[in-house]
Amino acid sequence: MTEVLLEVENLKKYFNVGKQSLKAVDNVSFSVRKGETLGLVGESGSGKSTLGRTIVGLNEATDGKMVFEGKDVRTFSNKEKRKYNRIVQMIFQDPHASLNPRMKVGDIIAEGMDAHKLASGKERMDRIYSLLERVGLQGEHAKRYPHEFSGGQRQRIGIARALAVEPKFIVADEPISALDVSIQAQVINLMEDLQRDMGLTFLFIAHDLGMVKHISDRIGVMYLGSFMELADSDDLFSEPLHPYTQALLSAIP
Ligand code: ADP
Ligand code: MG
Repeated sequence: MTEVLLEVENLKKYFNVGKQSLKAVDNVSFSVRKGETLGLVGESGSGKSTLGRTIVGLNEATDGKMVFEGKDVRTFSNKEKRKYNRIVQMIFQDPHASLNPRMKVGDIIAEGMDAHKLASGKERMDRIYSLLERVGLQGEHAKRYPHEFSGGQRQRIGIARALAVEPKFIVADEPISALDVSIQAQVINLMEDLQRDMGLTFLFIAHDLGMVKHISDRIGVMYLGSFMELADSDDLFSEPLHPYTQALLSAIP
């Protein structure tokens, strides 16, 4: 029943910093189940973004294995790689930095659609309009530029861009951390709606434990590049097993 979408096995991502090797992700293993939201928490610098970027293919793993839909990612054909790059999408933390300021919103949303030749002409425009409406904006916004929008609206544009290529799996890297508290819940609600309607699977990286508890089925706790604990969301909060998790939870006001 709980079909596995992605299996991560002994994944490592090291960075060379001077003569040192920095173990940003160090021997991490876990699975992501189809349709779930797996929360990922941990203090700043614990390796959450590096793990997310490695999963979506923005970083090359130093070592380890990722099995997606039963197949080792390293053995993908070029065609399978292209498909993986389409169905695995990332939503970034800072909606100001992640949208090209020189591109119109419609073209930003359609970038992946164009790259994967999913639609052209009127169909392309229709899809841009309906995506904008789906994320709570207006079709007409396609003609404007990112700077004309608030942080929350820009994050909605980032979400529309991810949705445009019909993804199955979305890595959301602290998608609300840069937003005003008053609009954080709106963006979370949108993501929950989308997950329900489209059967998406999420890896939801977050700083705010309260938010992550609300949105996640299971939660992984990272510290210094490794997983300390991975448990059902409710269990993690009621019975944290690892001392690090206990300390993290006791820090919540
Ligand atoms: P988090 O998202 O949990 O805050 P990161 O994944 O951003 O953590 O960073 C984990 C560690 O890897 C940090 O020590 C960070 O400085 C380092 N790091 C991240 N990206 C790079 C990079 N491109 N080059 C060198 N070090 C990096
Ligand atoms: Mg990060």
